[in-house]
Amino acid sequence: MEKHYTNGDITVVWKPDICQHSTICWRNLLQVFNPRKHPWVDMQGAGSETIIAQVEQCPSRALTWFRNSEQEK
Ligand code: SF4
Repeated sequence: MEKHYTNGDITVVWKPDICQHSTICWRNLLQVFNPRKHPWVDMQGAGSETIIAQVEQCPSRALTWFRNSEQEK
């Protein structure tokens, strides 16, 4: 069951089924990805470009993103 998180500009999609819990996302950008919080993704924690750069580091592609004005990548 995928989850969507948006800041109005971009949307981050998280697929928990394929998340490897590698911790890369929250070790690098805890302001946005904090597994102790609910919801665990805070889209106000950083700017869109910072969030995009981190999402693209996800090794399993459990995290993906799209601009709200475009199609999902
Ligand atoms: S970087 Fe990707 S695989 Fe690793 S914990 Fe975050 S969402 Fe899961």
